[in-house]
Amino acid sequence: ARAAAQVVQIDRETTYESGAPVYNSLSRLSISQQRLALPVYKARRQFLYLVEKYQVVVVVGETGSGKTTQLPQYLVEAGWSCGGGKQVGCTQPRRVAATSVATRVAEEMSCNLGTKVGYSIRFDEMASEETVIKYLTDGMLLRECMVDPLLTRYSVIMIDEAHERSLHTDVILGLLKKILSKRSDLRVVVSSATINAQDIKDFFETNRTRDEKKDSCRIMSIEGRTYPVDVHYLVEPVSDYNEAAVQTVLDIHRTQPEGDVLVFLTGQEEIDRVVLSLQDRGDSRLRVLPMYSGLSADKLPLVFEAPPARTRKVIVATNIAETSITIDGIVYVVDCGFAKIRAYNARLGIETLVVQAISQATAKQRAGRAGRNRAGKCYRLFTEEDFHRLTPLPVPEMQRTNLTPVVLCLKSMGIDNILHFDFMTPPPVGNLIRSLEILYSLGALDNDAKLTTPVGTTMAEFPVDPYMAKIVSSVYNPPLLTLPQLLSSGEEYKCSEEVLTIAAMLSVQTVWSFTYEQRHNADGARRKFAVYEGDHLTLLNVYNSFLAKNKNRDWCKSNFMNYRALIRAMDVRNQLKKYLKRWRVPVVSTTNSSNITKCILSGYFANVARLQPDGSYRTLRSNQSLYIHPISVLNNSNPEWVLYHEVVQTNKVYMREVTTIDSAWLSVIAPQFYEVNTKSSQHMRSLEEKEDVNETASVFSPAPNDGALLSLSS
Ligand code: ADP
Ligand code: MG
Repeated sequence: ARAAAQVVQIDRETTYESGAPVYNSLSRLSISQQRLALPVYKARRQFLYLVEKYQVVVVVGETGSGKTTQLPQYLVEAGWSCGGGKQVGCTQPRRVAATSVATRVAEEMSCNLGTKVGYSIRFDEMASEETVIKYLTDGMLLRECMVDPLLTRYSVIMIDEAHERSLHTDVILGLLKKILSKRSDLRVVVSSATINAQDIKDFFETNRTRDEKKDSCRIMSIEGRTYPVDVHYLVEPVSDYNEAAVQTVLDIHRTQPEGDVLVFLTGQEEIDRVVLSLQDRGDSRLRVLPMYSGLSADKLPLVFEAPPARTRKVIVATNIAETSITIDGIVYVVDCGFAKIRAYNARLGIETLVVQAISQATAKQRAGRAGRNRAGKCYRLFTEEDFHRLTPLPVPEMQRTNLTPVVLCLKSMGIDNILHFDFMTPPPVGNLIRSLEILYSLGALDNDAKLTTPVGTTMAEFPVDPYMAKIVSSVYNPPLLTLPQLLSSGEEYKCSEEVLTIAAMLSVQTVWSFTYEQRHNADGARRKFAVYEGDHLTLLNVYNSFLAKNKNRDWCKSNFMNYRALIRAMDVRNQLKKYLKRWRVPVVSTTNSSNITKCILSGYFANVARLQPDGSYRTLRSNQSLYIHPISVLNNSNPEWVLYHEVVQTNKVYMREVTTIDSAWLSVIAPQFYEVNTKSSQHMRSLEEKEDVNETASVFSPAPNDGALLSLSS
């Protein structure tokens, strides 16, 4: 207990605003009363007027004021969906936000999900002809744009959480700017935090090529009541913020008046551990719940439920609770000061998940979650000095991520001049060039930096990342073969059955499910399925065993597998299989495991690493030092050459999903990459020049490849 006191020792305390209203949770009101009580309701008329009059409306308002759930409903009530059966679409940067908000709005409109209100996320769609409001991830809207470049099925598109500056949202903003000039009937609503509103307005109003400005956008602010939040810092930094979080929550529970707690940590593993620890050490009046995007759909609704009387709810969450999901009743926020974000090093060609310090803006947003219902408190698990060292604003994802999928997508829309695309914040040119280079090595772009038919077009359409798309779509279909060397050596993989499974398994969140305490037993169970070659084939083995056991839930449980994830993998697999059917790719099976590995290598040739004398690995391309993740079945066997699916960075840079390869395959499977490196970079320079020449190309002047894409998808 003494340690706990130390952790939450505070060095600054302000007094409550006098007469702070008593805690009044919205959830005690009926649903229609709740709707009328939201701050956004007072702005309803003004909002509808602005949408009528201006093509773009930027809405600024506190989290929880009702933007996401209410604005699409207002639009439908005002008739924006009528005539021609058009939809109101609302994008979300996160899958969970799309499904959870759609569920809520369906409830508010008293209809079943998938009827008037629907959602669409990758591999999962609940929408129909009847749907007038559709919540979808920004990535899905981008995919729809590939098939329907003018987004004709929408009358209004709301880009929610634009301040998050997610990669797909940024790309869509660029596309919408073009679409608006072709569709005067379309309306765009952008919801954003205050700091970005003016930038967004400027972006839509400025014509960069012609140096003119039009008056087509308005900013609207929603007046929301927020209460003061006392911010407390640590006096001394701590080495383990997880333990500090546990102690702080227990301390709040012991010393503070009623009110729920929201704890921000960085990822599932940490969250599970802290939840367990709190359940262990807290009393029966503490109701602790996890919240992260991999959480099974049946557990998520629990976080919205009011806790039983005299019980304190504690939600331990990732940054999904920052803005996209609002939980009522939070009075205390505990902020570890970190978040897990995707980072990309274009020079090294490595994408990692890194735990990084958040920005000041993010820390303020997190603290704000405590002041929605009454004055609250925020405990930052770092010192005030550290706070002032944080960067003021988060870096847009566009600046720090692998752009290959997006470049492929833009190319497939006929936007050939990617280096000059109108991005709100253009990404580093080096990242774009690196992506062009990878797509060229994959055979998706030709010498003129144009999308190839059918390899490039097929890859673009496939709903998995380009490397995976390459292995699933192109290798075993003779007309799609891009590797003449393989043909001539008479190699044929004939393993589409197996690769479909592996692609599906890699596309779902982890298939293993165990708590921190069970980790040793789980490890033993996992070893039962381990395949000598590595994790890819192990996943295949797991999936096939699951089917052999008739998809038995109990069997999953006793083997520490996530039943729902496996069912989802089945779903994903069926969808991928439909694509193969459409392209008349035979679905065939092999018993030769090296065929499967070669096939995977044909897509992931860039992710190859070699064992070093000290037991670490180095990537072949860039000499980056890597380690095999402890969860990998190859963890202790240290083969000389491996390929990996992805890299995560925690205390070390780890390769996840690792498979042994034969180094002799490299020059056969990816000669463009491993042998003629210098030639290829010369070639890329000329590609860049060609990009520059393609100045006139635009989304809507169909590129030669567009036709092929459309005929494939029809
Ligand atoms: P904003 O988008 O402005 O942040 P929202 O429209 O998301 O606001 O939230 C408005 C209200 O709806 C909040 O009080 C929130 O608690 C409630 N709400 C949102 N989603 C759900 C849900 N799935 N279950 C219960 N309440 C919800
Ligand atoms: Mg919202």
